[in-house]
Amino acid sequence: MTIEEIWNKSLSKIEQKVDGTAFDLWFKPIKTISLKDQTVTLEIPNRFFKEWIEDAYPNVIKEALEAIVGHPVTLKYKIEEPQDLSLKKSSDRIENKRQRLANRGIYLNPRYTFENFVPGVSNQLAHAAAMAVAESPGKIYNPLYIYGGAGLGKTHLMNAVGNLVLEKKHDFSILYVPTDQLITEIVTALRYDKMAELKDKYRNLDLLLIDDVQFIRGEKTQDELFHTFNSLYEKQKQIVISCDRSPREINDITDRLRSRFTMGLIVDIQPPDIETKIAIIHKKAEMMNIRKLPEDVVHLLASRIKSNIRELEGSLMRIAAQAALTGEEITLETTKKVLKDIIHDERRPVTVDAVIKAVSEFYNLKPSEIKVKRRTKDLVLARHTIMYVAKQVTESSLSDIGKACGGKDHATVIYACKQVDERRAKDETFNRMIENLLQKIKH
Ligand code: ADP
Ligand code: MG
Repeated sequence: MTIEEIWNKSLSKIEQKVDGTAFDLWFKPIKTISLKDQTVTLEIPNRFFKEWIEDAYPNVIKEALEAIVGHPVTLKYKIEEPQDLSLKKSSDRIENKRQRLANRGIYLNPRYTFENFVPGVSNQLAHAAAMAVAESPGKIYNPLYIYGGAGLGKTHLMNAVGNLVLEKKHDFSILYVPTDQLITEIVTALRYDKMAELKDKYRNLDLLLIDDVQFIRGEKTQDELFHTFNSLYEKQKQIVISCDRSPREINDITDRLRSRFTMGLIVDIQPPDIETKIAIIHKKAEMMNIRKLPEDVVHLLASRIKSNIRELEGSLMRIAAQAALTGEEITLETTKKVLKDIIHDERRPVTVDAVIKAVSEFYNLKPSEIKVKRRTKDLVLARHTIMYVAKQVTESSLSDIGKACGGKDHATVIYACKQVDERRAKDETFNRMIENLLQKIKH
């Protein structure tokens, strides 16, 4: 295979993993130059691409390439635009740090520190708790359970805990692990009879950071996590957990594991208010070394991008990347042009399909399952939720909503809405969940 063929195949793999706008904005402009001694050199337009891809899509390119060539590869970036020397130095420093940590098996992002985290009303409890835990791991809140929607800073805070602890206690044994990776590790260990080694690795930690625990599944995995948890907890070793929802709202999890999650402190992160968003934009602009950022642009970003800070950051980086490419200054006009796919017209109606996608994601179901005529308890609840939410946020008629949910009629939709209303009145957890879903989908 030529390098072009390899890259094109990798691109199609990447396309399946990231959403369409992100793919067009960040991955399409990349060119491959060479593959030599397992090192793949990629050419990117400017430094913003490198930072964005590394933070927002760690390993996506690497894994796609490895799947195609069938062996491990190292990535190198070549940046087309001439680079500012001091910027290059600081970016190299971060890179070296990341590499040094990775060599010790610690996959922390050196950019995600407390200094780089902007506190605000929406995240202040989580921020304070994370700081406290980093100051005295294992001593106060154990576990610390942080939950909130996508892109609100959970992963950043967890990494900040890890980074700060490492600064103070160099020899601490730390592990940051996303839950899907944890599952893979356990499954692999079980298959190849390597459980003893895995137990050794996990139960001798001083600090365990488990990210996105909503993905937990499988009895064996949960057992293993439960025992690991107990073992660390008894030794007063710190555990930090992140999740997109509260422990009560995690589906299909064993009661004993759920109860472990609630033994320490539970804090949530809410979507940021506009002041916090503005402060975050300024902070990120400073970090990206964007010198001229007009206030009307800051306002446009802060007001149009509702809650997801990753999107906020991505948009900022995108306009900076564009300005660097064209040599033009950043203005309101150039911003609107660059972000036309991201900043939507606010009146754009939400579609029933979008609701189906969001709700089924929430219940860990596939959108296609909603449409088949099975009636398990989970499916019925998910369908009712979809109909209810769709009635609130879309402009579709009741019969169109019914049709989209597996050929139901409009009376079914009315019935579903009534059921959901009644349950909302009785069940506060459910009520909050629906409230969150509505917020998320409207934005
Ligand atoms: P989550 O894990 O909750 O989905 P992340 O921690 O990955 O979200 O955050 C998404 C992006 O937003 C990251 O680049 C992170 O640095 C940034 N971010 C989130 N909250 C803040 C904040 N309060 N201050 C600065 N950056 C933030
Ligand atoms: Mg995260």
